[in-house]
Amino acid sequence: MTHTDPDCIFCKIVAGQLPSKKVYEDDELFAFHDISPWAPVHFLIVPKAHIESMAHLQPEHEAMLGRIMALAPRLALEQGCKPYPEGGFRIVVNTGAEGGQEVGHLHVHVMGGPRPWLKG
Ligand code: 5GP
Ligand code: ZN
Repeated sequence: MTHTDPDCIFCKIVAGQLPSKKVYEDDELFAFHDISPWAPVHFLIVPKAHIESMAHLQPEHEAMLGRIMALAPRLALEQGCKPYPEGGFRIVVNTGAEGGQEVGHLHVHVMGGPRPWLKG
């Protein structure tokens, strides 16, 4: 049974208890559009399990993280990012208060599309 937190908004999105614009789903990962995008393409990839942040990663999470990183380029193209090298994308994982993390469920931002962007 996957660990979830009943008070976590991203656990609720994964469970379908809160609406989201889904980009991708499999057994252990879920991806959806950011509600207030910083770039023309901006979606989040999250583990379905409630892992609070990068600072909470354990050795058993390595394969899952690798899968997120391998999935990101594929979904970026599907969502409209142009191919490398003219296009591309940016991956950001905010971690902790000073790292700018606002939601306490590990999430990988994938951003791309024509500039300028709101942030960055
Ligand atoms: P953080 O600052 O924690 O790295 O990023 C959290 C991100 O989650 C923000 O970019 C914010 O717009 C997004 N976000 C917060 N609440 C929701 C929500 O309810 N739905 C969606 N789709 N995105 C959200
Ligand atoms: Zn959660």
